[in-house]
Amino acid sequence: KNLPPFRRYGQTNEMITHWFAENIQEFDAVGLCTCQCNIIDSIRYISVLVKGYGKPLVIGGPAASTLTDKMLKITCADVCVVGEGELVVDEAFTKALGIKQKSIRLTENPVVIHGKCVTELDKLPLPAWDLARPENYPKSDGKLRGILAVSRGCPWACKFCSVHTIMGRNHRRMKQKRIAEHLLHLARFGVKFFTFIDDNLFINKKAVDDVMGAIDKAEKVMPKHFKASKFYSEEGMEVRVAAEEGIIERVSKRFVYIALGLESINSKRIEAMQKPFNLGHFKRALTNFRRAKVTPRVFYLIGLPGDTAKSVAEDIVRLGRLCVDVRQNNVQILPGTQLHKQYLEEGIINKTYDWRLSASYTVPYPKSGLTSKLIRQFRSILGAIGTAASELDIAITKDSLEEIVSKLEKKYFVQYFVLEHNGYLDSMYVSGNMFNSSSLKHILEIIMIRFSPPEYKGAKVKLVKKENKMFVESIMYPSTAAQEYISEVLKREKH
Ligand code: SF4
Repeated sequence: KNLPPFRRYGQTNEMITHWFAENIQEFDAVGLCTCQCNIIDSIRYISVLVKGYGKPLVIGGPAASTLTDKMLKITCADVCVVGEGELVVDEAFTKALGIKQKSIRLTENPVVIHGKCVTELDKLPLPAWDLARPENYPKSDGKLRGILAVSRGCPWACKFCSVHTIMGRNHRRMKQKRIAEHLLHLARFGVKFFTFIDDNLFINKKAVDDVMGAIDKAEKVMPKHFKASKFYSEEGMEVRVAAEEGIIERVSKRFVYIALGLESINSKRIEAMQKPFNLGHFKRALTNFRRAKVTPRVFYLIGLPGDTAKSVAEDIVRLGRLCVDVRQNNVQILPGTQLHKQYLEEGIINKTYDWRLSASYTVPYPKSGLTSKLIRQFRSILGAIGTAASELDIAITKDSLEEIVSKLEKKYFVQYFVLEHNGYLDSMYVSGNMFNSSSLKHILEIIMIRFSPPEYKGAKVKLVKKENKMFVESIMYPSTAAQEYISEVLKREKH
């Protein structure tokens, strides 16, 4: 039960083996979509089955597009499609069927076909969700979750981003009517949590109009269903769009957790990464979030070139004060990106560098003082800030302390005593019957960081359960190197 969703849900190897034994003879060839998360286990396993049954194999998808040679070796595929596949799918399978099947080994001359950019997304057929039924996958918020992508490509050139290696830089989007058809198609499979996986869904105001208009259109057809539905954009909203007046208020009526691709709160880093906005836009966006009474979610990358342990600590203090829900990540050096090229040129990585390691390990930029361990510690502190902001769904300022406590009380049935001392939160007694003690722990930590005397900054709160009640057992003082860095920033500010 502790495995990530893609391991817990979907088909087991046993089911796949049986399916092949019973059905494969009906098929002439097999096509596999290779996603980064399934390339190691599932793809290798299925490829062996396909080749074992003597069938031609065509691969495509993100991993096949960015790691063509490696994927051909892993899968022994006959044909590999790089980029968008719809317009070359006939060609790919015709070529694959023409290749004589030998045994499970690398096809001598695998064919690589470069896909064509689909300019008219409206003409693509609706996905065959009956073959991948939404009820077989994890729910979100207790609702059946369905995914859709109504646009492709992004014109911007952020240095760490690999979107262009798969979808190109030409942004295309379905028309409002077609987006509504996709929503209704999913709704007919019972989907009530619609997740847009577009890389840059809300790229401009027109895109906002199209998506929101499509939801209204779909609601006219199935009013009860769509009134009870939620919408979510995986990659969030462009900062400049969020900075426009009225957009957050409008989108937040339908969408949950609106995220901004901020990546850094340092203007030099934002510019160096070629992000298409500046901190002025971010400030205006924050004002719009506050007006709409919505907690902004922001993506933040730790370990960009130029980041140091000190600068990350300063960023964290700033992010904490802004009361945003931080989605922290470490910088990943992905093939095909400008950052990958820069790291190669500067000798920080070499050609054999396995980018998949970046998911949990950041290649430290020389002389940054950042280590992988320190980055992990910073990530957990940012996680606490994120939890506090999103759980409470209000901006935390000293003046709103009472409001926070009353919300805590409502949500967790917490009884508390807060002793004020010299304008700081001096000590806190909490007991109660809360749903989620780890969330509360994070919230208490963050309150301690914000409101306690200097020597309490960065304190850790330990809770214990006695007679069905949670008590604060101890408050621990800063112990990790990351906390020390943050304490330093706070001390400097005080002086
Ligand atoms: S990070 Fe976002 S805005 Fe930048 S290039 Fe990638 S998709 Fe576009």
